[in-house]
Formats: sequence, C-alpha cells, structure tokens
Amino acid sequence: MVKAVVGANWGDEGKGKITDMLAREADIVIRFQGGANAGHTIVNDYGKFALHTLPSGVFYNHTTSIIGNGVALNIPVLFDEIKSITGRGVPAPKILVSDRAQIVMPYHILFDQYEEERLGGKSFGSTKSGIAPFYSDKYAKIGFQVNELFEEDILKEKIDRVCDMKNVLLKHLYHKPLIDKGDLLHTMHEYRDMVKPYVCDVSSFLDKALKEGKNILLEGQLGTLKDPDHGIYPMVTSSSTLAAYGAVGAGIPPYEIKEIITVCKAYSSSVGAGAFVSEIFGEEADELRRRGGDGGEFGATTGRPRRMGWFDCVASKYGCRLQGTTDVAFTVLDVLGYLDEIPVCVGYEIDGEVTTEFPTTGKLEKAKPVLKTLPGWKEDILGIRKFEDLPENCRRYVEFVEEQIGYPITMVSNGPGRDDIIYRSSKLKKN
Ligand code: GDP
Repeated sequence: MVKAVVGANWGDEGKGKITDMLAREADIVIRFQGGANAGHTIVNDYGKFALHTLPSGVFYNHTTSIIGNGVALNIPVLFDEIKSITGRGVPAPKILVSDRAQIVMPYHILFDQYEEERLGGKSFGSTKSGIAPFYSDKYAKIGFQVNELFEEDILKEKIDRVCDMKNVLLKHLYHKPLIDKGDLLHTMHEYRDMVKPYVCDVSSFLDKALKEGKNILLEGQLGTLKDPDHGIYPMVTSSSTLAAYGAVGAGIPPYEIKEIITVCKAYSSSVGAGAFVSEIFGEEADELRRRGGDGGEFGATTGRPRRMGWFDCVASKYGCRLQGTTDVAFTVLDVLGYLDEIPVCVGYEIDGEVTTEFPTTGKLEKAKPVLKTLPGWKEDILGIRKFEDLPENCRRYVEFVEEQIGYPITMVSNGPGRDDIIYRSSKLKKN
C-alpha cells in the first residue's frame, strides 16, 4: 500500500512533520523528486532537524529511507546530513540510493550561481543548489546516473565530452574559470566511494516490497504551485511536485498509490519570486512571519524570510485537485490564534471578473484577492486532541476552508510535534 504526502501550495506546508508522523506506520519512505534546495523541519524526541535530502523517515529504526531515481542527488550533502543526524544520537538509518538517480555535479551549483548573477534583477530566486542546471542536463541527456560512477571508461569519456561543452559556456558566456577534467574525475571517484554502500536497484526492491504488502510512503518536496507544468511557470521548480510523479520518481506502478495526503497550511507563505495573490506586507506580514511555523517563517535551506499571505482557497483548491487529493492535512492552525479576525482569499478578481479557478501565469499577475473575513478564536489550541474540543470559531474556520476547497480535511495539525494532530471525519466523500 502506497501513500503520498505532497504539498498543495508553494511548499513549506509542513509536509516533513506529517511524513514523520505517518512514517510511524511505514516500512519505507521515499523521496521521489527535487534536491537539497528545500528543507523539511522536523521536531521529535531527538530534537529539531532540518532535512534537505534525507526522507523524513530517518528517525525511526523500522523504516528504510530511499532516494529515488527522480531526485537530484547531491552526494556530499547526503553524507553530511547522515553524519549530522547520527552525530546527535539518532541511530544510523537504513538508506538506499537508486542506481538510476542522477548526480548534482559541482558545476551545476556553479552554473546556478553564475546564471543568477547574469540575470541580475530578473533572476528566478533560485536557492543556488544547482537544481535547474541539473534537470536541464538530465533532459538534455548529459547527466550522470549513479550507476555510471562504477563504469570507469564510460565515466571518463563522458566527463571529457560534457566538460568541453560546459567550458565553452564558462569561457564565453560567464567569463569564469574552466573545469579541470582530471579534478572532476577525482571528485567523481570520491562520490563513488561515498555512495557505494547504499546503491540499489530501487524499482526492483519496491516491487518486492509491494508484493510483500509493505507500507510505502512517498514524500514530496515543495507544492503544486511550484510544479513545472501546473504551477506558476516560470517561477517554479525543475521537477514535478505532484503525487502522480511519485510513480515515476520512485519506480512503482501509478495504480499502487492509494492515498494522497495533501498538506495545506492554514495561511500562505512562499519563497522566491512569482505571483502571490493573497500576499500581505508590512507589520501585518511581519507578525504572521514571526509567529508562523515553529520559530518563524524563514527558509529551512537559506534562512530567507518567507513572503506571507492569508489562506488562499483558489490556489489551494487547485493545488489539491492537481495532486488527486484523498485527504487534506491542514497544518499550523495554532499560529492563527492571535488574530481577532482572519481574512481568507475566496476568489480572484481579474479584469473586473471574479473567478475561483486558478488561472495561467499572465492572468495570475493581474489577479486581486477577494477576501472574506472570518472571526478569530483568540485562544491557544496547542494540546487539544479532539476536533469537538477546538473553539467554535476555529472549527468554523476549518469547515469554511473545507467547503471552499472541496476536499476532506481529515487531519488538523495544531503544533509542530509528532502528537500535535487532530483526526477528524469529514462530511465530504473521499475520492
Ligand atoms: P515542509 O517543507 O512542507 O516540510 O515545511 P517546513 O519544514 O517549512 O515546515 C513548516 C514549519 O512548521 C516547520 O518549522 C514545522 O516544524 C512547523 N510545523 C509543522 N506543523 C505545524 C503546526 O501544526 N503548528 C506549528 N506551530 N508549526 C508546525
């Protein structure tokens, strides 16, 4: 049985916490896309951790953590991350890396920086982790798969060929130092030795696991609105953030994904550039940012302050639809307890017309939020475990959002910890 945990919005919805929580029941947790460009923050008995590459199941003894073929694998980052958690008392996790995963090359990171420099003010707000150059090379078929590290002749020949091309760009477009082929080969040998103990034919491993009835969790990074096809193109990430891609990026049949848990935050936040209709500014935004998440809404990878906004029903309904949501996990609700009134974006006004359908990017840039204000509850809801025990206005907020987005909210997260969760039965029929 396969479940996917994915984001409905711009990322940072709290997927790490939900995955960590659901991993209790899972045998295998898989990252299927993205790279070390985003982070999950997890608070558990060992402390507070920011993971960038490892799946959020690494804190349990019983789970196998897998880096799927769809991931942009930064080998040194993976190893630093393993060391950083074992160094803090977490037992050494069981990790497998797909032999078909591709490697983030040192020059991908450089090209990412150089390109942002070149674009200046018109940059995409990249985290400069090499993700866009990595996926460009993957689809241009000049990327390096993990298995190629073990084929010395192929490796040498390919380094030679690829460096010739990269060096033209470095010299004539970016005016930067060239890649030394010998140095790069040496680095690849180091990567090979680091990754060797973990390499696995993952799709075959998962096929066997599925036949044995194991519980598998797919862990998505970012959210629908950063998907390269269905998101706010071009201000998106370079790999699909949708649950459907979980089948491809892990190597399992699509029909095996039985539950899609879409994580949706009780207010909005976004990193990087791009249209953000319900965005708020000034003191109002600062206060929400300061109180948000667990210790403020600042990027787990970059420390950048996140852009803040009210809950956006239009974007979230679309976000849930594209994921194929069976359940919504509605997170960080506790943070809103300070507000007398809570605005919610219920429509977009574009050229004088109001719509609840999420538009393409050009129209999105022109959209103005249509806000409805709901009463706040002015109470600390941390520690509450039953939906009926939440203040009435808080329940109404959840019910209102559920009605607007049209997908069942079956989990409400009211704190960063593993146990800060309220299960709820929804009147809405599951897909
Ligand atoms: P992810 O990338 O989707 O995993 O999101 P983040 O790592 O940015 O998680 C958002 C932040 O919110 C983290 O600091 C979590 O510890 C925290 N968090 C998750 N769920 C809750 C919640 O229900 N309440 C509060 N206060 N914080 C939460």
